[in-house]
Amino acid sequence: MFAPKPIQIVGGGLAGLTMGIALRRKEIPVTIFEAGNYPRHRVCGEFINGRGLEVLKTLGLKQKFFDANAIEAHSAIFFSENSKFPLRQLPMPALCLSRFTMDKLLADEFQSLGGELRIGERKNNFGEGVIRATGRKLQPVENGWRWFGLKAHAKNVSLAADLEMHIGRNFYVGICKLSGGEVNVCGLFRRNGQNDLPKNGFDLLRGNAGSILRERLANAEFDENSFCSVAGLSLKPQRASEKNEICIGDALTMIPPVTGNGMSLAFESAQLAAKPIAAFSRNEISWDEARKQIAFALDKNFSSRLRWANRLQRLMFSPVMRMPFRKFLFQSEAFWKIMFAKTR
Ligand SMILES: Cc1cc2nc3c(=O)[nH]c(=O)nc-3n(C[C@H](O)[C@H](O)[C@H](O)COP(=O)(O)OP(=O)(O)OC[C@H]3O[C@@H](n4cnc5c(N)ncnc54)[C@H](O)[C@@H]3O)c2cc1C
Repeated sequence: MFAPKPIQIVGGGLAGLTMGIALRRKEIPVTIFEAGNYPRHRVCGEFINGRGLEVLKTLGLKQKFFDANAIEAHSAIFFSENSKFPLRQLPMPALCLSRFTMDKLLADEFQSLGGELRIGERKNNFGEGVIRATGRKLQPVENGWRWFGLKAHAKNVSLAADLEMHIGRNFYVGICKLSGGEVNVCGLFRRNGQNDLPKNGFDLLRGNAGSILRERLANAEFDENSFCSVAGLSLKPQRASEKNEICIGDALTMIPPVTGNGMSLAFESAQLAAKPIAAFSRNEISWDEARKQIAFALDKNFSSRLRWANRLQRLMFSPVMRMPFRKFLFQSEAFWKIMFAKTR
């Protein structure tokens, strides 16, 4: 019997680490190259929802997240700058955990399973046996807009639900409860492609003067060390079958953050890819066959979700959202249920 072939994963974010853990559980030798370090804050709503929670359970990680003080979210509420929409119960509870804790937890778990983690090492060559989990691709301008994300933790904020979503003209900001009396404030913003990106991050997160968001965060005490930003986002759905590499997580495609489903896609794509990669490692199938099987599974699981998420994202930024129609839409229980189901 041959020893399994070693696998390399480039990128030690959620997708790469989850894939590493899944492969180590199958006793495949794995090395992960991570350009950055742990623990670190990441721009993220820190709200995990959808099928990825099942992946965490299967891999024995969900309980570890709870042990690390993850909390369940059961309700959500939407606001425009000056209106409030009905409180909604989430059809399935979400999990909220700081990325500072989450990424480190996964890195430790991978190493405890015997995986090799090469921290502070950037790898740029890909080929047989190498998986791309490098996160989002840089796209300075998309359809005339520059997209950027900001996040910071804060104390002294009371919320009307476990997740509040505040929608403005060129942004949305989500606030979710974390443990220890903290909340995570995270927003997606856009600027016309001609304009420079603004530098006043905290002020942008606080929302416009006179808005409900500004009022909500009036007494917020931001943790400056947790502030981070990311720019050059591309939210256009991508298909795995059009790639000639094996890509997982954001390296494959980004789902609009309003769905709170990006981390789920990272976990799910890692799990869907693990079986064919293990088969390749054990010499049962070729790399190209593994790539085709993975692309088929990823497109089958994600395509419809990405299409719906894209529609929702366009709606959030459309002029319709500034008309009375918005009220009708966001007050509709049926709209909430359909969008929730279709984007997960
Ligand atoms: C504003 C905003 C809000 C969001 N809110 C949510 C939310 O509430 N819920 C949710 O589920 N998702 C949310 N997301 C999405 C979520 O954060 C991502 O989908 C998730 O982080 C993707 O994980 P990943 O492992 O694919 O990428 P990442 O977490 O970005 O990891 C990629 C890693 O690869 C490393 N890397 C890159 N290139 C190299 C290289 N050449 N060599 C070595 N290492 C390399 C990087 O350092 C990085 O650590 C949000 C995203 C944004 C922008």
